[in-house]
Amino acid sequence: MRLSRYFLPVLKENPAEAQIVSHRLMLRAGMIKQASAGIYSWLPLGFKVLRKIENIVHEEQARAGHMAMLMPTIQSADLWRESGRYDAYGEEMLRIKDRGGRDMLFTPTAEELITDIFRAHVSSYKDLPLTMYQIQWKFRDEIRPRFGVMRGREFLMKDGYNFDLTKEDALHSYHRHLVSYLRTYERMGLQAIPMRADSGPIGGEYTHEFLVLAETGESEVFYDSTVTDLTFGDREIDYDSHQECAAIMEEFTSRYARTDETHDEALFNEIPEERRRSARGIEVGQIFYFGTQYSEALGATVQVPEGKPVPVHMGSHGIGVSRLMGAIIEANHDDKGIIWPEGVTPYHAGIVNLKQGDAEADAACEKLYKSLTALGLEPLYDDRNERAGGKFATMDLIGLPWRITVGPRGLKNGVVELTSRRTGESEEMPPNKAVERIHQIYSGHHATEHVEMMAKRSFHTYI
Ligand code: ATP
Ligand code: MG
Repeated sequence: MRLSRYFLPVLKENPAEAQIVSHRLMLRAGMIKQASAGIYSWLPLGFKVLRKIENIVHEEQARAGHMAMLMPTIQSADLWRESGRYDAYGEEMLRIKDRGGRDMLFTPTAEELITDIFRAHVSSYKDLPLTMYQIQWKFRDEIRPRFGVMRGREFLMKDGYNFDLTKEDALHSYHRHLVSYLRTYERMGLQAIPMRADSGPIGGEYTHEFLVLAETGESEVFYDSTVTDLTFGDREIDYDSHQECAAIMEEFTSRYARTDETHDEALFNEIPEERRRSARGIEVGQIFYFGTQYSEALGATVQVPEGKPVPVHMGSHGIGVSRLMGAIIEANHDDKGIIWPEGVTPYHAGIVNLKQGDAEADAACEKLYKSLTALGLEPLYDDRNERAGGKFATMDLIGLPWRITVGPRGLKNGVVELTSRRTGESEEMPPNKAVERIHQIYSGHHATEHVEMMAKRSFHTYI
């Protein structure tokens, strides 16, 4: 992409309405525009990152053996009356009437609809286990939408649902989701700590929330500091193995880590004092096992070889896809702007031409642009007729992890400059070396895999 043709409405001033840094930077970098309270348009740069986040979620769900699908945003109230949640959900549910006077609603979550699909098509235990998920817009009429995309009214959520024959199988699904979520967040450059949580209106006894530690987080959390030493890394794991998934579950959830709703002061005090931490966190996901409560209410049963049909064991699992963008920025920025982790950066590298119109500099930039593109990478080329200072400020604000600076003086010696946004360190090298280096960096970050998956388009993505 060439910046001269891009729609990037950067703001010079700090917008007064933004209270936290991620909201401020998303507005300043021209990523989103508020349409009404808690409802946003996603401008090209913001939408590009949103797709990157979605794609990582899709890839990790596919790896865990879960199937992508898509359910409607507008649902009939009937199913929700059947489950008893139409009234229970309260004011957060946006209720709508169609022209025939029928009660409809904008989906805040989809347990009812997926269970309806299940009961219509699955009747035998032989069709289990089954896990399907979607990435779809949700609406919750939050009392206080705030902090930009962090607490919106309309927001993008990955919601997944598992159907299993027994509690044991459903707990395997629970563990498998935990593992896949750990990988998902790490690929986005985030440490999200699974913490024991409260199940709230969904019900059920097993639930963990994933929290990214940040001062601006809305949740109060308590944990043993050693949980922050745990990383999943690039371990290969057999998702079908109950044992392997359970072992990871054990490893990541046996130490004390709880939200304020489940916090137990006495248990917490058993941890050596120097390891006790209380902090703020951003909830970026939650997993639930809730047994047979929805399947009983909605009659989702399967025939077993002996005896009567039995209700299936279910769980549901959510990732705050749009909230994640805010969380990633909260965890990765400095006073100049965003610092994207390689896994979600909107463009892989920026090219800054210090002297637009200089034949040699222009040609070198074009060549860099083409070489990077040929390798399946996406550069953002600042080809505007602007001063170097302005170009650097824009690049720093939008936070691409790598910048190649090209100027007539360097080219005389056959070099360009490669700069890391995170460390600020620069190194001079011949242009082809810079291309090679960037290629290498992204090969180590699932880039090749990412590109391959895109090429296959095995699932719905907005490319
Ligand atoms: P919260 O406690 O923050 O209101 P929740 O527990 O009600 O969230 P879930 O039903 O668990 O939310 O939804 C799954 C994920 O969707 C959450 O972990 C969160 O990341 C995201 N999410 C929930 N509500 C919002 C919102 N209003 N805006 C943006 N993301 C949200
Ligand atoms: Mg939650």
